[in-house]
Amino acid sequence: MRLIVQMKGVVFMRRVFLCAVLSMLFHATSLAQGMKEQIKISLKHDNDASEAQTKSQLLKLLAQYDLSRFIFTKEIIIDRETIPHSHPVLTLHTRHLKDDDLFLSTFVHEQIHWFFTQHQEQTEQAVKELRTIFPKVPVGFPEGADSEDSTYLHLLVNTLEYRADQELLGELRATIKGH
Ligand SMILES: [Zn+2]
Repeated sequence: MRLIVQMKGVVFMRRVFLCAVLSMLFHATSLAQGMKEQIKISLKHDNDASEAQTKSQLLKLLAQYDLSRFIFTKEIIIDRETIPHSHPVLTLHTRHLKDDDLFLSTFVHEQIHWFFTQHQEQTEQAVKELRTIFPKVPVGFPEGADSEDSTYLHLLVNTLEYRADQELLGELRATIKGH
């Protein structure tokens, strides 16, 4: 699920304690060399034009940008009837056909969820520290996620998504996109 949690993002981004976790993504050796070729993109509805176009859009973006460091799962489903989500299989929808930046950012967001589930211990530690800094966080749309845990997790996910956007799209487009 993709939700925008902006609360105090700048403040905690400056905190040194999170650097270890946050920099893992950016300093980790890529697991993804040559991954572009291995990515499997399936359509939920056979012969659906919008899903087929979205698959082409994703393939185009994979060719256009070096996303290798932001890919943590290789199995993707395109489903016009769902909200984008990361688990159990990363699933994207078709509504960003005309907005490459937003589609790219959504894709990276859902991939980053996989990064955090693959680093469970460090994620729990980071959330624990976030809880001491921000004992109260919003829950529910529009400021928070579905649950308190999810809001804390999204403070991490959205920070990395923003950093990835800055790197991939540049500062201006990353900011305009709404973070
Ligand atoms: Zn999310």
